[in-house]
Amino acid sequence: RETESARAARLAGLGQLAGGIAHDFNNLLAIILNYADFLAEEVSGEGAHDLARIRDAADRARSLTGQLLLFAKREPTQVAVVELNEVVTEAGELLSRTIGAQIELVCRPCAGRIPVLANRGRLDQILLNLVINARDAMPDGGVVMLATELAEICADGPLPPGRYARLEVSDTGTGMTAEVRDRLFEPFFTTKPADRGTGLGLSTVHGIIEEVGGHIGVDSTPGIGTTFRILLPLANDPADPPTCPGPDEDHLGH
Ligand code: ADP
Repeated sequence: RETESARAARLAGLGQLAGGIAHDFNNLLAIILNYADFLAEEVSGEGAHDLARIRDAADRARSLTGQLLLFAKREPTQVAVVELNEVVTEAGELLSRTIGAQIELVCRPCAGRIPVLANRGRLDQILLNLVINARDAMPDGGVVMLATELAEICADGPLPPGRYARLEVSDTGTGMTAEVRDRLFEPFFTTKPADRGTGLGLSTVHGIIEEVGGHIGVDSTPGIGTTFRILLPLANDPADPPTCPGPDEDHLGH
């Protein structure tokens, strides 16, 4: 099996390649769109209709290259102290209204605060991607759950030992095979039809989390469902410590 660092290097390489291709394509698409606009002033009737289709397709292609550029973007994200439970609760409320009636979204933030070091917009992006994937995995409906807790990572864990915030996004969907699980963070890896999946959602999520010094792992069982587990570094501000029960404390409060 591939080591974590070999995998990180391979994903970074793929990201660089994707970014380069996206950049060149974006320039070519700008030319196509420009000439389509010039032509639109000269043609009418059937021709104008065909031209509008060319324009629409080029527009869609441009939004795809835009996503790619975002994924491959090299500038570091600005991080700040963000209260994770507030982000999860607000995103949960918004997503539960857009996710469709057959799917129940359950939000279980731990009682208290968990300040983390992250970027608010990027955290929203992570939640959106994971919840949309969960929805896609539950065509006949089901439950998606967002939960948070304080976690203690020991010496042989995926990150340096210490306390972290853990965010879990789980669903009661189709689950995935070991082959899919091994590849799901790769850019362009998708099992969805071409007009639905880009294969960029989870590679973007992975990139965002690695960048802030966190970790994402996945547990999945075909026919049962999938759980994504994300570790994020705590803000460690003595004036604003996490107030959720710690991993060693009794959750019932005895
Ligand atoms: P996309 O959603 O565009 O396919 P992603 O990178 O977000 O791209 O996901 C890659 C693949 O991982 C999906 O096509 C799907 O096969 C699998 N996957 C992701 N999330 C889930 C989930 N919650 N349940 C089952 N399979 C999933």
